[in-house]
Amino acid sequence: MVEGSVKHIVVIGGGFAGLWAAMGAAKRLEESSDNADIAITLVNRDEWHAIRVRNYETNISDARLPLRPLLEQAGVELVIGEVTDINTDQRVVTVSGAGDAGEKSRTLGWDRLVLAAGSALVRPDIPGLAVFGFSIDTWDDANQLNTHLQELEDKVAGSSVLIVGAGMTGVELACEMPARLRGLGIEQPRVILADSANEIGLSLGDEARPVITDAFIKLGVEALPSVSIAEIDREGATLVDGSRINAATIVWTAGVRPSGLAAMVGFALIAVCGLRRWIMCLRPVTLPPHRPKMETRRLCHASMAGRWDEPLATMLPVT
Ligand SMILES: Cc1cc2nc3c(=O)[nH]c(=O)nc-3n(C[C@H](O)[C@H](O)[C@H](O)COP(=O)(O)OP(=O)(O)OC[C@H]3O[C@@H](n4cnc5c(N)ncnc54)[C@H](O)[C@@H]3O)c2cc1C
Repeated sequence: MVEGSVKHIVVIGGGFAGLWAAMGAAKRLEESSDNADIAITLVNRDEWHAIRVRNYETNISDARLPLRPLLEQAGVELVIGEVTDINTDQRVVTVSGAGDAGEKSRTLGWDRLVLAAGSALVRPDIPGLAVFGFSIDTWDDANQLNTHLQELEDKVAGSSVLIVGAGMTGVELACEMPARLRGLGIEQPRVILADSANEIGLSLGDEARPVITDAFIKLGVEALPSVSIAEIDREGATLVDGSRINAATIVWTAGVRPSGLAAMVGFALIAVCGLRRWIMCLRPVTLPPHRPKMETRRLCHASMAGRWDEPLATMLPVT
């Protein structure tokens, strides 16, 4: 994988893709006879490897693991900070908030760069969303939602949860929510999954939709298609047509976009969505001009600047 001239591999992101890429590279170096001068650094904005796919669960206390011990044993350096710039001409990344106390930013030179910065929830500029809307995009977001649910004082007033966005994350959360609310002492929970599309689960395919419908009937989840949210407040949402949905909890799960860092390396972007029971990367990948159509398996490779086709498998079975 690594040619003789490569001295420093920098991996951006400590999620599944980045961790797998760094550990995979370290393993290959360990197996190689000529690896003396090659260093691997992983940069992540915090010290955690977060298992985002579990963020809809009630107990997420073990849904993130400290990166340092994992990386240390593989000989990979961890730099904690926010990558704010990638300069592909000079082959450096700028990391802010990294380094010794007082040092605001530092640069890291690279010979190979693995961009595995993942995706982030899109939060449109809807009045009230930033203040009253919850999400399960990150561990911290999911933790805030859990705290809010646990602190609901009025069990009757707090019985309604509106989830906006009926993709995989929204459907998953909606199915889990009735049991979660009952577990908190809410006897008659009302869970509504709304989407602007005219059918719930549209993006999940023809096979999935009847399964989702059955599950919703069994679990008592209300599906609300063709909904457009105009405003959110503490007690619910006002729709564009003026009608109201009262809910003490609103969770926004309507869409993600790849990390903005991808634009800095000028790659074409494809968001690769995972299949159930398999965790794959939802993140930008390089699209080589001579192969406009790549099968999914090939898309699950860490994107390496300059070398799009070096596979670093990022597909893990969910156990
Ligand atoms: C609730 C939920 C359920 C999901 N369920 C599934 C599922 O069932 N199947 C599936 O395939 N996918 C699912 N997904 C999508 C899933 O999150 C991704 O498939 C997977 O996390 C992608 O891994 P990744 O390593 O590419 O990115 P991420 O897990 O997002 O990791 C990116 C890492 O990069 C770091 N980072 C980002 N930007 C910077 C920066 N500028 N500087 C420093 N560090 C940075 C982040 O802190 C993070 O640690 C789900 C997502 C959610 C939120």
